[in-house]
Amino acid sequence: METKQFKAESKRLLDLMINSIYTHREIFLRELISNASDAIDKIYYKALTDESIIFEKDNYFIKVTIDKDNRTLKISDTGIGMTKEELDENLGVIAKSGSLKFKKENEIKDGYDIIGQFGVGFYSAFLVADAVTVISRAFGSDEAYKWESKSVEGYTIEPYEKESIGTDIILKIKENTEDENFDDYIDEYKIKAIIKKYSDFIRYPIKMDITSSKLKEGSENEYEDFIEEQTVNSMVPIWRKNKSELTKEDYENFYSEKHYGFDKPLKHIHISVDGAVSYNAILYIPEKTPYDFYTKDYEKGLELYSSGVMIMNKCGDLLPDYFGFVKGIVDSEDLSLNISRELLQHDRQLKLIAKNIKNKIKGELENLLKNEREKYEEFYKSFGRQLKYGIYSDFGSNKDVLQDLIMFYSSREKKMVTLEEYVSRMPEDQKYIYYAEGESIERIEKMPQTELLLDKGYEILYFTDDIDGFAISMLMSYKDKQFKSVSSGDLGIESEEEKEADSKNEENKSLFEDMKNILSGKVKAVRASKRLKNHPVCLSNEGELTIEMEKILSAMPNNQNIKADKVLEINVHHEVFNSLKEAFEKDKDKFNLYTDVLYNQALLIEGLSVSDPVEFTNNICKLMK
Ligand code: ADP
Repeated sequence: METKQFKAESKRLLDLMINSIYTHREIFLRELISNASDAIDKIYYKALTDESIIFEKDNYFIKVTIDKDNRTLKISDTGIGMTKEELDENLGVIAKSGSLKFKKENEIKDGYDIIGQFGVGFYSAFLVADAVTVISRAFGSDEAYKWESKSVEGYTIEPYEKESIGTDIILKIKENTEDENFDDYIDEYKIKAIIKKYSDFIRYPIKMDITSSKLKEGSENEYEDFIEEQTVNSMVPIWRKNKSELTKEDYENFYSEKHYGFDKPLKHIHISVDGAVSYNAILYIPEKTPYDFYTKDYEKGLELYSSGVMIMNKCGDLLPDYFGFVKGIVDSEDLSLNISRELLQHDRQLKLIAKNIKNKIKGELENLLKNEREKYEEFYKSFGRQLKYGIYSDFGSNKDVLQDLIMFYSSREKKMVTLEEYVSRMPEDQKYIYYAEGESIERIEKMPQTELLLDKGYEILYFTDDIDGFAISMLMSYKDKQFKSVSSGDLGIESEEEKEADSKNEENKSLFEDMKNILSGKVKAVRASKRLKNHPVCLSNEGELTIEMEKILSAMPNNQNIKADKVLEINVHHEVFNSLKEAFEKDKDKFNLYTDVLYNQALLIEGLSVSDPVEFTNNICKLMK
């Protein structure tokens, strides 16, 4: 018989996994039971929607059997089974999801927590077994097959006998090693405890033959062992349980069992609603950003159950995009099992649930912000971008939901602050909410445009995310205070600087006019700056589009060459201005040169590229001569 190889990447991962020091070997059982439960779900769902199948509830269960003599542990289910092709396809490839591809080769070198990260499911069997046998007969088929693998090297599939539909998974448990007592996995009490810990809520009975002892018949002190089949799990789904019965650990176990993430959830939300629509839900706010979250591969959604039966793996309609990071499950009696995906979208009940869920999540985040600031900031690091994106998208229609959840780094507090906090401490004479855009906090701190505002003691919000400027352009104002970029032409400050700049502009009208002509097409105007204190030049912008937004747009794949209207501001108190003036009066060539160099300097400060770097350096050399 031919031994098939595991797909190349599977083999590598499998090898890593088996040989890595893994601390939670016991989770293999959770994985296998969860697969068994899914397989029964599939047949249960079929029976509910197809009248030709009769579903006898008692016929559907999972059985875990220990054979100490042969050192095996068997997990059997009466689920949908697998055909020969499915055995090959499903069990021959590891981590099909493609997540492995994403992880670069060197990042998985130690294999630690790979299971946790990818939920390799079935393969976790190899954590405790050195040989795995799967015997399966698929629903609707007369044939059964045996899949067997003794190592990373590969597996075989051959025809086999199996009377009923379903799957048996037989693990040949490893011998004990110095650090690991594998005997635990053929120990009745240990196995029972593992099932209780991780799989208690599985909806189907998980049966085990449990040994007990009783008084021998006719004897008063002699005991004998007897074996009795028991259902080990309580079968009540966790979302149907009372919050008071559940511990933080229960919620965390459920989170990992469902592979919602490889982190621990930051917060869980357990909802039971009875009213216009009834549903139970357990939702999670993850702590860390899933690796693919900000890519188009990420699919948002919650698991959707109808009266305990799973009808959809990822129901996207239950979550707005901006809360797309939320994981969890929703179970409602008010949804029909037969409903198609297309119809579901328009289902009134589902819409009600979605709306309710949205409000719950919003409320929970607000609570977190109010009561557990540190946790919120951690959350915000992972998902703040998504909230800001939410403000920007749909033409700002969600801004009311989100505006109190966003935060920015503050020049004054040197930490993240909310808009509410900013506005509440604005001095009376301050008209606008000021913000500065740049790549990083360090970079913004050096921006010449912030000088005057900081001098006046005004707080500035630092926008370092590419979405920030766009989100704010949608928000426009907060509590009637408009946002103003520190680079915008008019800062709205009535000041000495303002008056003075006006008179300087008048005084040097022809000089600025000439500069503008030299820089024709590059800037809209050249003016005396009201905001510069120490720097000689800077760029500001007029109109809606800021320079930072221009940068972001031009980095996009479909760059449409949209430009911000730029103004070159000159610090008339800087020594450079005197030289400029002198050149203007005496030496036109020099004046041209100075204008060009100053403009290019302003571009560089702004983080924009100089269009002709060679010419620019040549010009600098000319100055030095
Ligand atoms: P996952 O469950 O995350 O898809 P697994 O490696 O655990 O990944 O399983 C791969 C696939 O093998 C499953 O999606 C399912 O189709 C099939 N499978 C695993 N165990 C069983 C089982 N007991 N009965 C039927 N199919 C199963």
